[in-house]
Amino acid sequence: MTDASVRVRFCPSPTGNPHVGLVRTALFNWAFARHHGGTLVFRIEDTDAARDTEESYEQLLDSLRWLGLDWDEGPEAGGPHGPYRQSQRMDLYRDVAERLQAAGHAYRCFCTPEELETRRELARAEGRPSGYDGMCRDLPPEQIAEYEAEGRTSIVRFRMPDEPITFTDLVRGELTFSPENVSDYGIVRASGAPLYTLVNPVDDALMEITHVLRGEDLLSSTPRQIALYRALADIGVGKGTTPAFGHLPYVMGEGNKKLSKRQPESALNLYRERGFLPAGLLNYLSLLGWSLAEDRDIFTMDEMVAAFDIHDVNANPARFDLKKAEAINATHIRELPVADFAAACAPWLREPYAPWAPEQFDQAAFEELAPLAQTRVTVLSDITDNVDFLFLDEPVADEKSWQKAMKPGAGDVLRSIHSRLAELAGDAWRAEPLKEAVLAAGEAHGLKLGKAQAPLRVAVTGRTVGLPLFESLEVLGRERTLLRVDTALAKLAAQPGT
Ligand code: GLU
Repeated sequence: MTDASVRVRFCPSPTGNPHVGLVRTALFNWAFARHHGGTLVFRIEDTDAARDTEESYEQLLDSLRWLGLDWDEGPEAGGPHGPYRQSQRMDLYRDVAERLQAAGHAYRCFCTPEELETRRELARAEGRPSGYDGMCRDLPPEQIAEYEAEGRTSIVRFRMPDEPITFTDLVRGELTFSPENVSDYGIVRASGAPLYTLVNPVDDALMEITHVLRGEDLLSSTPRQIALYRALADIGVGKGTTPAFGHLPYVMGEGNKKLSKRQPESALNLYRERGFLPAGLLNYLSLLGWSLAEDRDIFTMDEMVAAFDIHDVNANPARFDLKKAEAINATHIRELPVADFAAACAPWLREPYAPWAPEQFDQAAFEELAPLAQTRVTVLSDITDNVDFLFLDEPVADEKSWQKAMKPGAGDVLRSIHSRLAELAGDAWRAEPLKEAVLAAGEAHGLKLGKAQAPLRVAVTGRTVGLPLFESLEVLGRERTLLRVDTALAKLAAQPGT
């Protein structure tokens, strides 16, 4: 197969919010397509009107765009195999279902759910396979007429071949499923609505998909799907080839349980709102089952694309590790040119994240501190707390920090600091002389710099931790710094024992 003939698909159902498992699947398909110079088809599997929402559809598109995972065919991009929303392809599925029945690959099944359940239980009790028992496989026309006269409804069931299905999974190697474990299955509901089990392979066939890379949770449906591709080839739907499959490993969350869509840490929006960079998040998600090299966790998407080989994906479950995701993101943040970092922070420097009014914000002051913040934030949203002292009229009131820094004696130290700082003015109001002044004030009280600066930091920023203090004071300016120390001293005076 030439490289450019690779066609993969990302085909989510638009239910709920996009989650990290979904993004991992999209990413691996995208990297595979880009590595081979092939085509990524983005298809929306919206055949479940009760669960699909337009909001979720919009979010999917928006998320892929934000991440930079571009698609070649699909919504908005168009393409020769459209429409790419299954809800707009219903006539086509109906037609295929009829042709499958006409060719004997599928049949009408009149068993009621109660009958199925009774027989399933019996099979279980007798230790037989509990899948569909083939009751309606070869109904004579009179029996069908009788069922219809009774007013029974029917679904359409696909007839599985009686021999084993073997395929070579690109991640797991050769797998064989014996017929007793893969029974005939429904492809059209009694209402006439086609099921996912039909429409997903039909579209793979029509869209000429060559490789299916998807989660391990779908592995058990693969033999059914392969049988269906063969039947589709038989009735002339698509080009007649069966795609190769690669099942990506499970992602485990807390307590070694599968990370579920419902767990908060699986929601993509959480990462976006906290200020993960797409490059950082994708870098981390690529490690869920793959690695560039044993000793290399940090890389760009270009590097991933160049190196990506589906055969290198590990079949063992991957563990989702938020701390590692954050550390990788922090590294990507540090690697940005500082101007890009400052620009990327913009959303967290205004409403709804920033606690200051828009007119209090000063871009030039922010840019002075941006290089110092860049090496300290893990996610971009950390920026807000790091620079709020610059834009708020008063530092945030953080009682814990106050208690920690304003121990007995803190007032005396602060007073000394105040008088030394007050001596600095104009050009002397710079980080280095500011530091010397605080050092000298501390020494007078027998304190090292770290201890001496603690009450000053809380007086000025409200917090015990933050950006380098003296650079912060330089940007904040003499007047505002001294005023804040005055305010803290007044508060201390009203508080006996300090
Ligand atoms: N719509 C299916 C899902 O979201 C896609 C399964 C597949 O990739 O084949 O689970």
